[in-house]
Amino acid sequence: MKDDNEIRVCKNKKCQKVLPSGYKHKYCEACRNQHAQTAKNVLKGIGAGVGAVASVAVVIVTGGKINPKK
Ligand SMILES: [Zn+2]
Repeated sequence: MKDDNEIRVCKNKKCQKVLPSGYKHKYCEACRNQHAQTAKNVLKGIGAGVGAVASVAVVIVTGGKINPKK
């Protein structure tokens, strides 16, 4: 039989907070919130990066269209 009463702690090595029994997540609430925040920041960074790449791509695409036929 599997022991479901095993004490689990937050996977964050700096945190190690004991998780309540039946808690579904590997990280405690605080760490999960922090993770979400980090993910948002990363997405923001990616969004800015994608925006820059997209504008470069647009320049390349329009440049190709503007080029007269040889
Ligand atoms: Zn934690």
